[in-house]
Amino acid sequence: VTHIGIIGAGIGGLHLALFLQRHDVPVTLYAERGPDELRQSRLPNTAVYWSPMRVRERQLGVNHWDEEAADWSVKHLYNRVGPEPEPLRFRADLDEPGLSVDHRIYASRLLEDFVNRGGEAVYGPVRTESLERLSEAHDLLVFSAGRGNMTELFPRREEASAFTQPQRLLCTGIYRGIEIPPPAGTHLSFVPGGELFHVPIITFEGNRSALFFEIVPGGVLDSLLNVRYEEDPERFDRTVLELLEKAFPDTRALVDDASFGITRPQDVLQGAITPTARRGYAQLPNGKWVMALGDVHVVNDPLLAQGANAASACAFLLGEAIVADDLAFDELWCRRTEARLWDYLRNTFDWTNFMLRDPLPANVVRLMAAAADNQRVADEFGNNFADPERSWSVLASSARTDAFLSRHGVDVAALPNLDGSADRDQSRS
Ligand SMILES: Cc1cc2nc3c(=O)[nH]c(=O)nc-3n(C[C@H](O)[C@H](O)[C@H](O)COP(=O)(O)OP(=O)(O)OC[C@H]3O[C@@H](n4cnc5c(N)ncnc54)[C@H](O)[C@@H]3O)c2cc1C
Repeated sequence: VTHIGIIGAGIGGLHLALFLQRHDVPVTLYAERGPDELRQSRLPNTAVYWSPMRVRERQLGVNHWDEEAADWSVKHLYNRVGPEPEPLRFRADLDEPGLSVDHRIYASRLLEDFVNRGGEAVYGPVRTESLERLSEAHDLLVFSAGRGNMTELFPRREEASAFTQPQRLLCTGIYRGIEIPPPAGTHLSFVPGGELFHVPIITFEGNRSALFFEIVPGGVLDSLLNVRYEEDPERFDRTVLELLEKAFPDTRALVDDASFGITRPQDVLQGAITPTARRGYAQLPNGKWVMALGDVHVVNDPLLAQGANAASACAFLLGEAIVADDLAFDELWCRRTEARLWDYLRNTFDWTNFMLRDPLPANVVRLMAAAADNQRVADEFGNNFADPERSWSVLASSARTDAFLSRHGVDVAALPNLDGSADRDQSRS
């Protein structure tokens, strides 16, 4: 019987392990931490899961948060583009709501599901030296240990790597004392110098808000760069409030000053990510092949909320490839499977890297301006977060964006001539 080893019990590793379990494929999951330790750990992200991922959760029988999500999910995207005093505003209505659950609650629960259903989990970090030994114990090893963990096993795709350093500094946290007025949704604010995402998230304290700042150094959000929560919590909370006041008055208006602040010291994350695409498989010195899954394969800046959704989508593609052909997990198998994953991933990668430009590309701004007057354009912009291929099809060049807008009855020539960075044709890449 084919036996699969999975290293890393994050989104990708868990969804693959649960998928294989459903298909009666024996699997061992090597998890850095057990459920209790995971619950105590630092906030690793504040991810939103779009509808296709929620469909996969239902298929795996791990849709535990549907009830809470009834009034605390991402049914709408409230967009605000440009600086005060007159930002452009539009609301996108999602066909199916997205969901955000504290990763530590989510991943520990799925790990428990896997084990309670008879799955084998081994706790403790896997070291590079153990990889060959583990590969001997399994027909295939899948490596899904997240960004920055032994990723050098998989060479960078130099031809696809747009950046060699982070494009944003990230500061996300879970807060008390900030409302999200119904109907619930994520509030997205794009200003020169960065972005703010205000997300309804299900947490250890129930329904709370995540505030996720994406900071372009040297811009309006700079004050957050010089304050680390663990060094001075009060100054951190104060700095966030001042920043809301200065750049995001709509969000500031939702704050109750008396109760505002980070929920618990481990509920903050400050860091940066270099968007990187890697090859999806590698060969160990003993000749065995290892597949990459999730952030190990492609890590995006979180700007467009794609990484967790992609890790889940690729877990299913990888699982289906294992079930469809288990004759040999050789180079042929790896190459074919990588091609399927890359076909999905490269849309997330190209689209995210394009949107990371500051100021926003002109065709993106044109689409947003049109969305402010045309609900169908607005809704499609929102729903396309769940469909990276479709989204990139619309945005990869000005010609594509204008054709899309024309089909929705927008008079493209009449759109205001808004500032944007040089709008090169991306569709050739
Ligand atoms: C601030 C922020 C916001 C985000 N927002 C979104 C969003 O809205 N939507 C979205 O889709 N994505 C979002 N992401 C990205 C998303 O969190 C990641 O892309 C996703 O978690 C990747 O899944 P993964 O399985 O590859 O890795 P992870 O989920 O990071 O899991 C990796 C696992 O491997 C384990 N591990 C590490 N080293 C070892 C080892 N040596 N041995 C064993 N196990 C090991 C870790 O403990 C961890 O459990 C966000 C990320 C950040 C930082």
